[in-house]
Amino acid sequence: MTLNLTKKNIIRILNATNSEVTRLMLETAQYRSNNLITYSKNVFIPLTEICRNDCGYCNFKKQPDDPDAIILKTKKEVLLELKEAEKYGCKEVLFTFGEDADSEEAVRLKLTEYGYEKMTDYVVDICRMTLDETSLLPHTNGGNYTYDDLKRLKDVNASMGLMLENSSSRLMELPAHKKSPGKNPEIRLKTIENAGRLKIPYTTGILIGIGETREEVAESLLAIRDLYDRYGHIQEVIIQNFTPMQGIEMEDWAEPSFLDMIRTVTAAALLFGDTDVSIQVPPNLNRDTAQIFLLCGADDWGGVSPISPDYVNITSPWPGIDELEKLTVDAGFELTERLCVYEKYVNDEWLNNTLLKKISSISGHR
Ligand code: SF4
Repeated sequence: MTLNLTKKNIIRILNATNSEVTRLMLETAQYRSNNLITYSKNVFIPLTEICRNDCGYCNFKKQPDDPDAIILKTKKEVLLELKEAEKYGCKEVLFTFGEDADSEEAVRLKLTEYGYEKMTDYVVDICRMTLDETSLLPHTNGGNYTYDDLKRLKDVNASMGLMLENSSSRLMELPAHKKSPGKNPEIRLKTIENAGRLKIPYTTGILIGIGETREEVAESLLAIRDLYDRYGHIQEVIIQNFTPMQGIEMEDWAEPSFLDMIRTVTAAALLFGDTDVSIQVPPNLNRDTAQIFLLCGADDWGGVSPISPDYVNITSPWPGIDELEKLTVDAGFELTERLCVYEKYVNDEWLNNTLLKKISSISGHR
């Protein structure tokens, strides 16, 4: 069934009153092909906390002169964390870290010390080590990459990701992004498009509550839909809510309302209702309200770690898998584990032999 939602339709959903929201939520149910809600058991390893951007909501980035900053983890440190994650049954390693960290001298010095020229060289080698020496699958989200860098990363990643956040360049003038050249939507859309051209199974999404209008939310969702229609590589769309935290530049900003989250998740579920693209809501950022999003059409909890915190939302611990299962079942659904790469991409059109062999060797998966 194709809905062909227009921008006007989406804005209408985003402006829906309470009774309309209830009707729309019910409408999302008809697009469910099953009762399954997925998650990926992962470990989150930030390779560096240095970043060229300075987002108004960031609680992750540290300055190079901060004695507590991770300038660049060593391979040995990363391997130890990976081995620990194996013991917990994690199947995905999420390498998320600051963008273009090698624009900082402190990181360049570390890279030279470790025998690398560029950050991408190091990331590729870390991912290769993961494939060679552990049972985990790498999923890298390190900001924008050029086509050539993405091509190298594709060979050693089962999937990759980059939040679009919002497609409006107006946000580059607001506290959220005014000091973050990497949040320029043109560059981000280009990265996501290049991932599509390279056939990289990809995760993206939007961030709401950072000063965007409803029209801009609609345009952002449509931009993701357009990329999916052209390349088919978008495996899931994250609807993430801005969460104020003490100490960030935007600490006094209001978080998006619960109803706005409901409207946005419902709009995304309906926009992608005729596809098998998952809609993901992070359960740790919606601890008390997570269940309702399943009723709005969300069908994925994303990466959930039994071992590492969510470093980019450090004040929001992930629920345990038992707790996740309980709230999923209580809402009338069934929780099931997935890999970081969705099943439909596990073939030689999307992944090389090394990755395919690795996936087939992971217990419980083909
Ligand atoms: S939110 Fe991400 S891109 Fe922005 S400053 Fe923090 S680490 Fe960098």
